[in-house]
Amino acid sequence: TPTVAIVGRPNVGKSTLFNRLVGKKLALVDDRPGVTRDRREGEARLGDLEFRIIDTAGLEEATEESLLGRMRAQTEAAIEDADVILFVVDARVGILPADRPFAEMVRRSGKPVILIANKAEGASGMAGAYDAFSLGLGEPVPLSAEHGEGMADLFEALMPYFPEPGDEEEEDDPNKPLQVAIVGRPNAGKSTLINRMVGEDRLLTGPEAGITRDSISLDWEWRGKAVKLFDTAGLRKRARVEDKLEKLSVADALRAVRFAEVVVVLLDATIPFEKQDLSIVDLVEQEGRALVIGLNKWDLVADQKGLLTDLKEKASRLLPQVKGAPVVPLSGLAGSGIDPLMKAVYQVYETWNRRISTAKLNQWLQEAIDANPPPAVSGRRIKIRYMTQVKSRPPHFAIFGNQLDALPKSYTRYLVNNIREAFDLPGVPIRVSLRMGQ
Ligand code: GDP
Repeated sequence: TPTVAIVGRPNVGKSTLFNRLVGKKLALVDDRPGVTRDRREGEARLGDLEFRIIDTAGLEEATEESLLGRMRAQTEAAIEDADVILFVVDARVGILPADRPFAEMVRRSGKPVILIANKAEGASGMAGAYDAFSLGLGEPVPLSAEHGEGMADLFEALMPYFPEPGDEEEEDDPNKPLQVAIVGRPNAGKSTLINRMVGEDRLLTGPEAGITRDSISLDWEWRGKAVKLFDTAGLRKRARVEDKLEKLSVADALRAVRFAEVVVVLLDATIPFEKQDLSIVDLVEQEGRALVIGLNKWDLVADQKGLLTDLKEKASRLLPQVKGAPVVPLSGLAGSGIDPLMKAVYQVYETWNRRISTAKLNQWLQEAIDANPPPAVSGRRIKIRYMTQVKSRPPHFAIFGNQLDALPKSYTRYLVNNIREAFDLPGVPIRVSLRMGQ
């Protein structure tokens, strides 16, 4: 876990911030300057972030040489240990000469620093916050450690220094192929479509028998972009056309979905939205993948315009959990619709990776709450404080507040539907975690 040091001159509110982050009254706080002389450490938590935190000692205003030296040594040691430094100033007072030697120590260390303008409750401290720019430590994060305001902004400022669990690096590698699974009921036309995409030859080079279950991926290139296609039963079926089982192997579908970033659920447009189709979409949702719906065998459809309208309506009604997923008509047999399909694939992939700034989210949240406040449940006053996006792939939000265990599911649904609309997140599952405290 990363180590975060709280640094700054006495009386800027370091201990209050420490207490706020550790959640217990470990540090002694007093209005008299320099009460906290000893270094304190604690296990801190802010949203999903967990870290070790060091509170440096306060420094007596008196320029007593020994004390000054002790304070400096403590601060140096804390900076030395830290991965990230929270440099705290008092937004109400502004920058004092006493702030500068500490700022200098931080700057010299070359370590990442987040400048915090504390005591900025309400709008009272804004002047001091602007003043803080002059330290040359970047843009200050205004907050009130005492009142718990601005913690979402602190979270956002800290988040980049924490490795995201999962596959952050993969995301950054432009050469990594996009992983796309084509899943659907038997006879939906998966093999035909994949053949058409990668070229007949590629598929037929596989051995007739003994194609192993986990080797069913094919490398392809679409408009110069690398794509890895995951097939489900298509390949194996080709090897034994005789016993074409009219059965969907859920295990096969699940395997392909897990490998994929984007899943194309291929429907037979002449018999769309069968029960099995819906359970495949459920898999995609549960596994948190981005979804595109392919309407195959479009060449067999007479009233194409009417059917498309009808099926788009059905999709949004039957698949609320991935509302707005692109619906693309195509024909694997005729080779039409493949470009629109791939465009849709890249579009939902982008949505799946989307990150929304905490500032925008909280602005939206306030409006959503004002429009429809959370209900009081059996006398418990539910208070939603703020929210932040903790992950992408798929978008995952944490909502912080009090009594959230009493929040009705319908209210969470209201928020999710609203987020989807407000931030334009069609075709991806949206996760929400409720967090108490902070
Ligand atoms: P899979 O089980 O999903 O892999 O389905 P196949 O690719 O084996 O196709 C099942 C049947 O549907 C075959 O007879 C295909 O020729 C037919 N088929 C597949 N795609 C299309 C299409 O776009 N249009 C038409 N008319 N038939 C198709």
